[in-house]
Formats: sequence, C-alpha cells, structure tokens
Amino acid sequence: MKLLLIEDEPAVVSVITRGLAEAGYEVSVAPDGNSGLQMALNNPSFRLIILDVMLPGLNGIEVCRSLRKAQLEVPILMLTALGTTENIVMGLDSGADDYLVKPFKLQELEARIRSLLRRKTNNTDIPVVPTSPAILSLADLELDTDTKTANRQGKTIALTATEYRLLEYLLKNPRKVLSRLEILEQVWGIEFNMNTKVVDVYINYLRKKINKHNPAELIHTVVGLGYMIRENKADENTY
Ligand code: CA
Repeated sequence: MKLLLIEDEPAVVSVITRGLAEAGYEVSVAPDGNSGLQMALNNPSFRLIILDVMLPGLNGIEVCRSLRKAQLEVPILMLTALGTTENIVMGLDSGADDYLVKPFKLQELEARIRSLLRRKTNNTDIPVVPTSPAILSLADLELDTDTKTANRQGKTIALTATEYRLLEYLLKNPRKVLSRLEILEQVWGIEFNMNTKVVDVYINYLRKKINKHNPAELIHTVVGLGYMIRENKADENTY
C-alpha cells in the first residue's frame, strides 16, 4: 500500500519510512511543500498522506488546502510540533482528517494510519491488529493494561508512567531481544536528542521494583544487543 510522506526533517523521515516499511507500507517522500503537492496531485495511487505542518516552500496547511481544492479525497494525517488548539483546529479546518503532535511514537502513527484507512475505505488489505488482552503476564509477573498496575506473586508494584510503558512494551515482546534504540523509540517516542542511556536507567528502576518480592530476574541483559524479558531458568542466579 502506497503512502506519501511530506516532511523535511531527515531524522524524522528516516524513522517513519523505516517503521512503516517494516509494517508493510511503501512510502514515498517529498522534502518540501511544493514537491509534495505535485507528487500527490500526479499520483492517485497514494492511499494516505502524512503531512508535516512546518515545511519549506508551501507549508502543510497550504498543501492540505490545495489538495482539497483539487478534490483529492485521500486521507491526510498532519504532523505538528505545535500542539496548541489553534494550530490543530487550523489543520483540521484546512481539510486534514487527523493530526499527531510531535514527538510521537511509531506505534501511535501506525494506529492512526490504520484507523484512517479503515474510516476512508472499506478495503480488506489493511493490516488487522488483534485487540490486545487486558492482562499481560510472564512467569509470576502480571501487568493489567486497563488499570495500569503490575503485580508479582500477587503483590502490587507501583509504576510511574514511563516504567509502565517500558514494562508493557517488554511484556508485549517476550523472549525477544530488544535493542536500546527500539526500546527508546517505542517507549519514549521519536526524540533524537535523547541518549539510549535513559533505557538502562529505567530498566534498572523496573528491575528493582519487580524483584522486590521475588529476586528471580526476568529482565535480562543481552550483552552488546539490548534486553530481553523472559522466564528465569531454575539454575540462573539473579543478575
Ligand atoms: Ca518540518
């Protein structure tokens, strides 16, 4: 499925194109408003447009207005660094279908794309994602995604918002090596000035809390690669 990304920041372009390619989309990129508008007008095969607001040449609002004026009905998802109500309203008034405020998580971008594609079309080639279960668990550790609380051996573990998102991501990917960069992108969002050290810091916070009631380590360091959450083998000592 072909998508058009109109965005001038190379770092954002690289993360989005990589992430969406992994999710099975074919992404074309326009680095400014004018070329983006031309590409959108000349290629009716784009199923959705991801449009940054702050662009060289025509800005995102102007591109959006021009596309709607030309009767193009392709869904438009606007990216804005400006999360004020005024800007969001302006974006939606110009004809955008939805918006995301930067920085955002790739997961969130993908969810918005799926939802827009479902809303605008009734096609069956949209990836279907099963609704996730309310309780994620591994060994004696449980995370309730409705109440956002964790417990181990039945004892409640209080988590901060970041610790919760980190644990949720780990538990959704059990027994899989997750690199620090993947964790950073998924848990903290697209923030390029952030160091992956923050991942180590939060993994340690989480370990301390999780291991309080049972020292058997679940979050394992995979040297040189990242982290993996998995059951503790009987002969394994705490890390
Ligand atoms: Ca921009």
